[in-house]
This record gives sequence, structure tokens and C-alpha cells, in this order.
Amino acid sequence: MIKENLHTILQTLSENANLVAVSKTKPVAAIQEAYEAGQRDFGENYVQEMVDKHPQLPADIHWHFIGHLQSNKVKYIAPFVYLIHGVDSFKLLKEINKQAQKNDRVIDCLLQLHVAQEETKFGLDENELNALLSDPALAALKNIRVVGLMAMASNTEDVNQIRTEFKQVQNIFQQIQSRGDLPQNVQMQHISTGMSSDYQIAMECGSTLVRIGSAIFGEREYAR
Ligand SMILES: *Cc1c(COP(=O)(O)O)cnc(C)c1O
Repeated sequence: MIKENLHTILQTLSENANLVAVSKTKPVAAIQEAYEAGQRDFGENYVQEMVDKHPQLPADIHWHFIGHLQSNKVKYIAPFVYLIHGVDSFKLLKEINKQAQKNDRVIDCLLQLHVAQEETKFGLDENELNALLSDPALAALKNIRVVGLMAMASNTEDVNQIRTEFKQVQNIFQQIQSRGDLPQNVQMQHISTGMSSDYQIAMECGSTLVRIGSAIFGEREYAR
């Protein structure tokens, strides 16, 4: 089933979009099955769960952390995480830099932009994002690289609302890309938008990383 779902989704991806298979709450065996079907990028939301799964699975998996990351937990994933999607403060970026340095590596990060209507979704607004990117202390963080933006659309059936929000992410991404004052460790390449229910709309709005869980692995035991 997982294999078939995966192939179905891969066929619907646009040329520029890459798939992050969101395996949160799913067993190692399910990830292994997707791996054997060729999938290498997996997304997890919880630090402990990702740390538990990592040693049980092949070493060439790219582990994407897509949840809300607390500063005091960065150290657990810093040795192996491939991309951290939800960075929403300079403080967190500094801690990731510190832990990356300890592990003698550079960790790629996406800044999370808040575009949804819900109060509960994490992320920076446009002004906060621009302020962070203009912070003169950013260039000194040699062990991180900001490679793009991540966002979640409102949890709504209203397709126009979702499209408006994803377009907003794309516009802000393009504005940042065209800034001439960015430090070397900011290289805007990725837009991480789109989940099972809205990834088609996200791809129309420039998504390069779609994060898809339930359409591959089935419904989760508990709600997000
Ligand atoms: C759970 C989750 C997903 C995947 O959601 P599905 O609806 O199962 O595709 C994507 N992104 C984030 C941030 C998530 O927490």
C-alpha cells in the first residue's frame, strides 16, 4: 500500500518539487517500506521519535525536522538532521549554530513564515522575518545555512484562501531572493509548503518541498 501511494504521489509532483515523506507516529517498518520503494527524505515532528528511529534505519536517509523545535532539544538531532524546517527565532538559529559547530557540521535551516489565519500556528510574520535577515549578527553564524522558507496554510476547505496564503509565501520568498544585502549563509533555494490535502496548490505557488504524510502512510492514530 505504502509503495503504491508513494508512486501515485510521485507521478503528480511538478518538476521542481521534492517529496518529504512525513512519517511521524508511524513505525520503523513503514519507513523501511517507503525506503525500499526508493524514498530517501523523511519528515518527523518530535525530537524523541526522530532520535529513536534514526539508528534503526539506513544511514543514507535524509531526516527533516518539521515540527516546532525547542532550543534545549537541538543537541539531540544536531549530529544527523538534514534540514530543520521550522526555525522561527534568532535565538533558535543561534542554538542550532552552536550545536552544529560542536558536531563539526553546517546545518541547513528554513525560516518559518506565519501566513495562516489561525493563532496557533508558529512562525514569523513578514516584518519579523525581514528583521531577522537584516540582523548583523546573522553572518557570524558559520555553522548554519538559511536555505529558504517553510509555511503552513490555514486548515480550511477554502481553496482560494489556501492559494492566497501560498502565493504570499512565494512573493515574500522572491522579495528576499532579490535583496542585495544578504549574508553568505543565506541562500534562498527552497519553499517548503504543501501537505496531503493542499500540496497541488502549493506546487502551483512555487513549492520545492512538499511534506506529505497521511496520503502515503494512511491516517495517523492521533490528530495533529
Ligand atoms: C503532519 C505534518 C505534515 C503532513 O501532514 P499530512 O496531512 O499527513 O500530509 C506536514 N507538515 C507538517 C508541519 C506536519 O506537522
